[in-house]
Amino acid sequence: MRLPLLCLVLASSLFAGPDKPWPQTIPEATRHARTSTVAEVRTFMEALRKRNPALVPYHPKGAPKTTEAGAPLLAWRLPATAKDAVRVYINANIHAGEVEGKEAVQVLVRELLQGKHPELRKHIDLVICPAYNADGTDGLDPAIRRHQPNPASGVGRRENARGLDLNRDLMKVQAANTRWFLALLQDFDPAVVFDLHTTNGSYHGFHLTYAPALALGADADLLTFNRRLLVEVRETLKKEGLPTYDYGNFAPEERGGGAWAPDKVDTKPERWETFDALPRYLSNYPALQGRLGILSEEYVYRSYPDRIADTRRFVTACLGWIAAHPAEVNRTIAAARRLPAKLPLGAELKETERATFDLVDPIKNAQGQVTGEKSQRSVELPSFVTFAGKDFQDLPAGYLVDAAFAERVRPVLEAHGLKVLPGRARSQAPVRHFKETGRTVAKGAFQGVLSLDLQGAWTTEAPARARTLPWDAKSLDAALYIPVQQRHGRLAFYLLDPRSPDGLVHWGFFHEVLLRSDGSWGTHRASRSSPWAAPLPPRLP
Ligand SMILES: [Zn+2]
Repeated sequence: MRLPLLCLVLASSLFAGPDKPWPQTIPEATRHARTSTVAEVRTFMEALRKRNPALVPYHPKGAPKTTEAGAPLLAWRLPATAKDAVRVYINANIHAGEVEGKEAVQVLVRELLQGKHPELRKHIDLVICPAYNADGTDGLDPAIRRHQPNPASGVGRRENARGLDLNRDLMKVQAANTRWFLALLQDFDPAVVFDLHTTNGSYHGFHLTYAPALALGADADLLTFNRRLLVEVRETLKKEGLPTYDYGNFAPEERGGGAWAPDKVDTKPERWETFDALPRYLSNYPALQGRLGILSEEYVYRSYPDRIADTRRFVTACLGWIAAHPAEVNRTIAAARRLPAKLPLGAELKETERATFDLVDPIKNAQGQVTGEKSQRSVELPSFVTFAGKDFQDLPAGYLVDAAFAERVRPVLEAHGLKVLPGRARSQAPVRHFKETGRTVAKGAFQGVLSLDLQGAWTTEAPARARTLPWDAKSLDAALYIPVQQRHGRLAFYLLDPRSPDGLVHWGFFHEVLLRSDGSWGTHRASRSSPWAAPLPPRLP
């Protein structure tokens, strides 16, 4: 007799307007047996939209709609309700085996729509892309990242369908996803960019590690502010029982880099070191455009539900800090547009502070998953989590790139938001040429490129021999001219200086003219001069 009544009550709760249940994410609906596909992310987000139309699909103006393989690039925007809002973009699943960010941002948007974070709704104008590496997202396979406790569905692939690691592509822009992201920076103009990951394998006691933007040559005050934000969030989370710290590894390698081996019980690492100051990473790059970056790296050995929960807590805490400082964030961003007279070509790690770290000796199963700890002890170590610039160079008025390279180079420069002018618009200062003094060609390919690193200097002397087509007034007028005094002048330097460690020379855009066999150009030896010039800058050979 009671059963029909029970059914009646359930049915009314399902269909009654405001009381109907909120949509569940795929992990919630499957007791964490699965992670979402791209289509399932779309279904969930569209179900949220039905509950609250404030959430809208977002597509950056002029951006590709799909990857090269045809997977859709999907994002949603939840505008702020207050006027002094901070625009924030959250990127997830760039490495599609690192799935917790993808799941956490879906939960976060639902919570925002449920009214659980009124201050964030008010002050944060939010865009999220839960499945940035859309190709990799749907390539679920239980054989991927087996050291990570995974849902039974398995997780996606690190690379896109072309085999590219999208988190190394920000400068060279080989992938449609990168063109999409760069278009978003221009169109949505975020003050803060998050990129959500999972660590790859080192052992430590933090549930989540993070990094501010670490880009070589970014505005110093911006980087200091970026770090302050994260230190203050760390302290808040520590009080709430979530241990976090700057992303890094123990060093040197033989003394615990990655793992603290049991046979090294009497030794300890010398220091803790963060990763890299190059702008090829999605969380570093925004700083070169005067924006804040936040890398989130959930600890790989935590359980799948814990990883989703930690990531959501960390992102929510950062957004809380931002929502509490909207004017300060926007002021810092505006001030970071100043262009300095010099920029560094290199960076070295510097000791930032001393901090306490847990050395963990893990017990692992056959898949490499951590099932327990043999021991754990705390050590205080110097922490190298920031960089100092070195090898500072005066900025030229601009760069001239031979018109022969326009078809390849112009779309990349314009994707970065750089203004590209005809050569005749160049400054009338004397033109300098790049004189190479040394080079390193990579022994192996990375991202399909044998990279090239040049040493040398700019000189007003024309190349000594006719190793290249000579620059004359006509070819200078026909060249591409990229002035440095423009909104993204820092990027002009790091893309076009031939010595830049992450620039177009490094990534092979000029390889046919720079990597040649003896006898080319009718000369006795391979050319070592260059097709750039610069008003008081480049024709690279
Ligand atoms: Zn990653």
